[in-house]
Amino acid sequence: MTVVVNPATEETIAEVPGATVEEADRVIEVAKRAYPAWRAVNPGDRARLLRKLGGLVEEHGEELARLETRNVGKPISDSRGEVQMVADVFYFYAGAVDKHYGETIPVAGGVNMTFREPLGVVGLIVPWNFPIAIASWKLGPALACGNTVVLKPAELTPLTALRLSDLALEAGLPEGVLNILTGSGSVVGKRLVEHPDVAKIGFTGSTEVGRGVMQGAAETIKRVTLELGGKSANVVFADADLEAAAASAPYAVFGNAGQDCCARSRILVERSAYDRFLELLIERAAGVQLGDPEDDATEMGPLISADHREKVSSYVDGNVVFRGNTPDSKGFWFPCTIVEATNDDRIAREEVFGPVAAVIPFEDEAEAVRLANDTPYGLSGSVWTRDVARALRMARAVETGVLSVNSNTSVRVSTPFGGFKQSGFGRELGMHAMEGYSELKNVYIATEGD
Ligand code: NAP
Ligand code: MG
Repeated sequence: MTVVVNPATEETIAEVPGATVEEADRVIEVAKRAYPAWRAVNPGDRARLLRKLGGLVEEHGEELARLETRNVGKPISDSRGEVQMVADVFYFYAGAVDKHYGETIPVAGGVNMTFREPLGVVGLIVPWNFPIAIASWKLGPALACGNTVVLKPAELTPLTALRLSDLALEAGLPEGVLNILTGSGSVVGKRLVEHPDVAKIGFTGSTEVGRGVMQGAAETIKRVTLELGGKSANVVFADADLEAAAASAPYAVFGNAGQDCCARSRILVERSAYDRFLELLIERAAGVQLGDPEDDATEMGPLISADHREKVSSYVDGNVVFRGNTPDSKGFWFPCTIVEATNDDRIAREEVFGPVAAVIPFEDEAEAVRLANDTPYGLSGSVWTRDVARALRMARAVETGVLSVNSNTSVRVSTPFGGFKQSGFGRELGMHAMEGYSELKNVYIATEGD
């Protein structure tokens, strides 16, 4: 049994069984048996089932949001938005079922065509920071393509995934199509990666664990999609709307208490605007509302665990120019923190995964590009400028899977999301995600004799 804790109160809110390797094998067997019938479901019916699931998520939105907030400690307004996104993801992939099709290719002697085939049983391994949202990003395309799935939530945050599987049955998904496997990564996660009957692993988590997943998958030549860590740059030029950039920047790194793979945790600022911007940034950071995650007005909750707080805390040294307040109550609180740094400091190189921003000056556009790219990661990023040509030059030059101009947003249901470099490979969301959950088959029919 794993004890599940509310990070804002430190109270136990549930106990969830951790599966053994033998139990994991049984769940994989169930998914394998359900596969032939599920792949044979006609596209219209499969789409209707996914749409129904989206509808049930929406209907149970407040309940799911409360559950997510109690389990992760994230503000209720964030959880509501994430749960709405889950519904929208299922609607999107309901619509994708009959829009993901093959082609006919002109060849000599016959007809040549391609089909998009499901893979079989896919293993989905997700982290604790956006539990239900990231689960849906994988479930939507995996199910739409006709795969059956075994989803392993993080041990710390299994509750919304378990509730979602009830709703899937209620929506009418056949038993065995969407399975939840609770337990630790090193036991059941590892088993999913190694099991010969699992055709693909869709993984989101740290680069370190992702590396092991890739190694483990090699034995069975399993397909893998890896959505890993980040150390994204928020690049602010002197010609930008500094007020707007400073108003947005704190949320881009303190949002979800910094436990966000897209966190813009390196704020690069053009030297000529540096002092003014830092002043504005600190002013805005001081306005971030920490507190009870169940309160509608709260903007930032606690970290996920005491262990994680310990880790985040180990990063904070050097020139701290801002440290916010934390509530006196129980909970794994950590203050919003701003540090002046260089891009070579540990705080600018490693993913802190907490509410800690490193602010770094640059001289000109060339240095901005060099610093933004001087990292093993490449997930997200932003550029703030009023110069359209510069915005486009920067957008092309920064080595990152997702980039926003005059915005710090990264994720949309209909647009591809994923990393360059050690932030992983493969894309989630949008129609591109369908490629990761299907195999391309080529068929030739001779019409003129062999
Ligand atoms: P993590 O420690 O890598 O764990 C991710 C998942 O992998 C969990 O379900 C974990 O299970 C499981 N796992 C652990 N060891 C495993 C193994 N040997 N084999 C198979 N699975 C294993 O990551 P986390 O601490 O939960 O989440 C934080 C990280 O996720 C950060 O680095 C963040 O950047 C990244 N992230 C990336 C994205 C993205 O889209 N790029 C989005 C969100 C988060 P247990 O925890 O239950 O043991
Ligand atoms: Mg972990």
